[in-house]
Amino acid sequence: MSTAYQLVWFRQDLRIRDHAALWHATQAGPTIALVILSPEQGQLHDDAPIKIDFYLRQLQSLKDQLASLNIPLLVHSISLWKDIPEYFATLIQQLPIQHVYANVELGVNELKRDQAVQKLLNQQDKELVLFHDRTLFPVGSIRNQSNLPYQVFGAFKKTCYQRLQPALPQCYPIPAPQQALTDLKLISSTDSKSLQLEYQKHIQHPHDHEWQVGEAYALQQLDQFIEEQLSDYKIARDFPARAGTSQLSAYLNIGIISIRQCLQALFRAQQGHFDIQSDAQQSWLDELLWREFYQHILFDFPRVSRHLPFKQSTQNIPWRDDPVALQQWQQGQTGIPIVDAGMRQMLATGWMHNRVRMICAMFLSKNLLIDWRKGEQWFMQHLIDGDLAANNGGWQWCASTGTDSAPYFRIFNPVSQSQKFDPEGEYILKWLPELAQLDKKTIHEPYAKKHSLALDYPHPIVDLKLSRARAIEVFKAHLS
Ligand SMILES: Cc1cc2nc3c(=O)[nH]c(=O)nc-3n(C[C@H](O)[C@H](O)[C@H](O)COP(=O)(O)OP(=O)(O)OC[C@H]3O[C@@H](n4cnc5c(N)ncnc54)[C@H](O)[C@@H]3O)c2cc1C
Repeated sequence: MSTAYQLVWFRQDLRIRDHAALWHATQAGPTIALVILSPEQGQLHDDAPIKIDFYLRQLQSLKDQLASLNIPLLVHSISLWKDIPEYFATLIQQLPIQHVYANVELGVNELKRDQAVQKLLNQQDKELVLFHDRTLFPVGSIRNQSNLPYQVFGAFKKTCYQRLQPALPQCYPIPAPQQALTDLKLISSTDSKSLQLEYQKHIQHPHDHEWQVGEAYALQQLDQFIEEQLSDYKIARDFPARAGTSQLSAYLNIGIISIRQCLQALFRAQQGHFDIQSDAQQSWLDELLWREFYQHILFDFPRVSRHLPFKQSTQNIPWRDDPVALQQWQQGQTGIPIVDAGMRQMLATGWMHNRVRMICAMFLSKNLLIDWRKGEQWFMQHLIDGDLAANNGGWQWCASTGTDSAPYFRIFNPVSQSQKFDPEGEYILKWLPELAQLDKKTIHEPYAKKHSLALDYPHPIVDLKLSRARAIEVFKAHLS
């Protein structure tokens, strides 16, 4: 009888360490791996070119790592997810596959895709065996006393703390190398170099010099952050000119590292016990739990992935249609330096500091009163760490339409934020070199004292005080 293989279907989890599906597949028997690339689906989801480029480069790294375990990787391109079940139907005719293993993905389309594959496999007495690997706790498992999902971060977090108390989630080991699968003939496999060419039209500006791939690199970054930067994190995290945060979001997002690895590293000095020793440690833990919270929200309230506000009372807000202002915001030409610096940082590097993401998002949704969904889409189209759950959660928080949001009348003043969190104007200067001649007081608001200042930089496109008052009026009048 010929060997039956286990198939691991990698998606947003391109690593071999601490990988639930890979571990379980390899324990069940000889394993082969699969990645399906879906360029058109990626476009529908607004995946940024820099994110696709990052994914493809990591895919090459994953292939090498799997080769060291004698696990062959099959890479297949299927434009749209709706055609994936048909591909599996053919694949299981051509290869003796026993079961398919994968880690759960949470978006509505992802869940629908997996249900269709499950149905197809079940008809052939096979299964799509799914594992909760992207979150610390299975989605649907963090519930309040009425067995309902939490809608407020504070209460969600408290329950997570209780769940972590007895023991932190453990990491899976790297599977032992299997015997080479000499009698296996893969039906077709595209190498990731040629896929990169196929994707070339989507990737106009590869940034590989800035975002190195590889699990070893990501783990080294994690260790370095915990050992050298964590102690200062609580304060430093808010200052965009400082490298005060881990910059691991892109790595977490496509699964080059896992959330369990982050948690284990955070409590390494406590020998893996959930024993919070400092404000800094708690502060980073809480950010990891914000990530967790938004993923659970995405699962429990699927309307957020259908472009609907979480708070239904905000659905009648009459957002302004102002394509000119939208474009000025997108290109970092609003005349508000901290906003423009953030928007230009994202265009140049694919990443923006969290404090500045909040300032830019509030400026668009409140001062410009432009629909937050337009900002959400622009971020997704440009972020290397673009993630539906976190991006939607962040945008809805800033626009006061989301879970546990900023109340609509609490609107950041971008100039005060800039003075507080970039007091020397270093961050602004890095991204707006045209303001080099200004001192650290003037740089936050170049024309405040001298309207006629000769600068190659726009005047503010909106009056901050008046636009703040307008947003409050509009919200007050249209909340149902
Ligand atoms: C409008 C807006 C849009 C955002 N879009 C995204 C996005 O598309 N993808 C994304 O990963 N994050 C998003 N965030 C959250 C946050 O800005 C980034 O996760 C963070 O800047 C990443 O930097 P870091 O890895 O250095 O974070 P650190 O401060 O080191 O935090 C560690 C990890 O915790 C998670 N995290 C931190 N803050 C948040 C948060 N507020 N919400 C959810 N998770 C968080 C991230 O995975 C991050 O890597 C958004 C925030 C806002 C306000």
